[in-house]
Amino acid sequence: MDKTSENFNTAALQTIPGRSGFDYLVVGAGFAGSVLAERLANVLGLRVLVVDKRPHIGGNAFDRHDDAGVLIHPYGPHIFHTNSAEIFEYLGAFTRWRPYQHRVLASVDGQLLPMPINLDTVNRLYGLSLTAFEMDEWLASVAEKKEHAKTSEDVVVMKVGRDLYNKFFRGYTRKQWGLDPSELDASVTARVPTRTNRDDRYFADTFQAMPANGYTRMFERMLRHPNIKVMLNTDYREVVEVIPWQRMIYTGPIDEFFNHRYGRLPYRSLEFDHVNLPQERFQDVGTVNYPNDYAYTRITEFKHITGQRHPTTSIVYEYPRAEGDPYYPVPRPENAALYQRYQAEAERLSDVTFVGRLATYRYYNMDQVVGQALAAFKRIAKAHEARAQTPRVGSPALAD
Ligand code: FAD
Ligand code: UDP
Repeated sequence: MDKTSENFNTAALQTIPGRSGFDYLVVGAGFAGSVLAERLANVLGLRVLVVDKRPHIGGNAFDRHDDAGVLIHPYGPHIFHTNSAEIFEYLGAFTRWRPYQHRVLASVDGQLLPMPINLDTVNRLYGLSLTAFEMDEWLASVAEKKEHAKTSEDVVVMKVGRDLYNKFFRGYTRKQWGLDPSELDASVTARVPTRTNRDDRYFADTFQAMPANGYTRMFERMLRHPNIKVMLNTDYREVVEVIPWQRMIYTGPIDEFFNHRYGRLPYRSLEFDHVNLPQERFQDVGTVNYPNDYAYTRITEFKHITGQRHPTTSIVYEYPRAEGDPYYPVPRPENAALYQRYQAEAERLSDVTFVGRLATYRYYNMDQVVGQALAAFKRIAKAHEARAQTPRVGSPALAD
């Protein structure tokens, strides 16, 4: 991607009279904020101030080397996967990719079994020797019949039956969300497929890869532009009245933006226990899930994911929490209804665009947030162009 001149719409820039301060205040330097800052500066030539209350860029995808020198993800394991060539190529302008396919084992009944549930999971758990063809029939024989998959319980029992549901999903979900799967939208557990073959990859997307030098380097390259200024350790409310700006991109929690006018939107949080161990390897795969034992949901060993070689290894335990940084929106009907009230307020603000996982209260992966931000940019660019072509009252064009 040409970051210098090709898409640089200087004509539009010159037609805005009396420009001072920043064209955009971008709240949040995660995927949503960084993609938009990059596009606004590189394509439209606008002046952008990115503000984040954390001491770093990258949002929850931020990575860094720990004291031992192992590259870790402080906010939990982030594995990039997408079916969109456009999104993969867009990010590819800012990083080389290292192919990586994530594998997960679940600790169930004293065994470590492939997750998502596949042919090997069933054969090893029950001591069977089904073929892929027989697996279809076997699943049909255990699956529960219901009219609709409304909840996260329905979606699993309708595919794999009650026993596998109890062993792999019920405990994990209750731990992760503090709710029974029957209280969550079907979309939550539907994230995890069921396979009748032996494919043991966690994701099936066309593109599965990690930024070769880490996420933070990729974000640095996205934000490296003379028109982009980054201000860290700053809540936007500290500067919003002080620094002049024309329009805002907001990527924080939407209910916080409106001072919780209609009440708090629930978010699920996590506590991360990062540990460095004096050994090369801790476990056989990137992540091991613990659906039924321990207070944590999963342990991830970063070197599998990053491909780093190092004489020691670093792992992270994830402990779900009700309080703390908002990491997950909680998909259930009453929360969607509350979000819609905030969304209606957001739509009334013509100079603020809400983008990202927390600002649109959607359980989005990184690629979905990038896609959402690129779509928002297209709308913004169109409106920008339309404004640039409309002569303003009092502008030199009219005064003549
Ligand atoms: P964020 O990354 O949350 O960025 C928002 C930023 O706004 C933050 O940096 C925050 O500090 C800042 N902010 C908020 N309020 C203010 C304020 N008042 N003033 C200033 N700044 C503010 N996705 C995948 O695709 N693959 C994975 O493997 C994966 N694993 C995940 C694991 C965990 C544990 C979690 C929690 C998420 C995971 N995700 C994964 C999802 C991924 O993290 C998100 O999709 C993505 O990071 C969201 O980007 P964002 O820009 O919307 O939000
Ligand atoms: N899940 C489960 N058991 C597992 C893995 C996932 O019950 O072994 C359910 C759980 O409700 C989880 C959801 O499926 O929150 C989505 O899993 P995913 O791995 O996508 O969660 P994330 O990586 O976003 O935390």
